[in-house]
Amino acid sequence: MEEKVLKLLEEAKMALQAAKSLRELDDLRVRYLGKKGEVTALLKGLGNLPPEERPAAGNAVNRARKEIEGLLNSRKILVQEEERSLKVLSETLDISLPGVRRERGHRHPVTQVMEEILDVFAGLGFSVRVGPEVEKDYYNFEALNFPKDHPARDMQDTFFIREDVVLRTHTSPVQVRTMESEEPPLRIVSPGKVYRHDYDVSHSPMFHQVEGFMVDEGVAFSDLKGVLEEFVHQFFGPKVPVRFRASFFPFTEPSAEVDMGCSMCLGKGCRVCKDSGWIEILGSGMIHPEVLRYVGYNSEKFSGFAFGMGMERIAMLRYGIDDIRLLYEGDMRFLEQF
Ligand SMILES: [Zn+2]
Repeated sequence: MEEKVLKLLEEAKMALQAAKSLRELDDLRVRYLGKKGEVTALLKGLGNLPPEERPAAGNAVNRARKEIEGLLNSRKILVQEEERSLKVLSETLDISLPGVRRERGHRHPVTQVMEEILDVFAGLGFSVRVGPEVEKDYYNFEALNFPKDHPARDMQDTFFIREDVVLRTHTSPVQVRTMESEEPPLRIVSPGKVYRHDYDVSHSPMFHQVEGFMVDEGVAFSDLKGVLEEFVHQFFGPKVPVRFRASFFPFTEPSAEVDMGCSMCLGKGCRVCKDSGWIEILGSGMIHPEVLRYVGYNSEKFSGFAFGMGMERIAMLRYGIDDIRLLYEGDMRFLEQF
């Protein structure tokens, strides 16, 4: 009997040492100490022994039981520790791992360009005015010296709301509205959306313009040249050449288109500048005396210049974008580059 007990004890010890989880330990507890366990079976078997052997055998079984219990408890604590430290280890924070990048938006390239342009003109003493996008024919055309049936109206493919109400085709109406309500001296820039019936790689039915004008006593063409040259140099770089080319707009006289040296080929000639070495960036001119008369200014006393440019065109030149439609498709892969 005692031999049997010793053998069982050895076996139990080995099994307990080998157990690696609380679950295995619990199985062993049931196997040895449970109601139908092996130690319990030995205890039950005591009754079959001759009476004189029972006390010694009983003692032996009880000692084995106690030893197994003790070992079970100490293994339990150890395994618990091991399981906890394994868990801690697996949850360790590796601070050298790259983090999850959080997506951040930014302003649209056209907005960025517009804000920069307004910034340059703010530095030259210009302040901002805005006007409505749905505009009266009077402000969009008539007061800008486009009489009814004037062929120049065909230069701008107009969206009509009613016969006398249009989606403004340029930001120039803000000139008229501002001069109507304010007195010179004026130095104004006016950004905003404009609309024309046109759609291809360089035209969009909606685009953005910045209009600028200055009215005071004795404003001359040299002021126009000075302000616009300064703008080009601040915005595109101090060494970019600028030239003025005679043109026609109904609301300015004389009128000039402003070109800057092609930044793609540095004047040598390329696809972007159509081999001319120059790129047209804005229209300008001295405000037509007729326009000053429409708003009630004394055109003998006051003179001024005005200019307008398309934001998309400026953004395309600055970033080398060759299709205006890319600016409106909302493709993140495109927009993320700016
Ligand atoms: Zn070029």
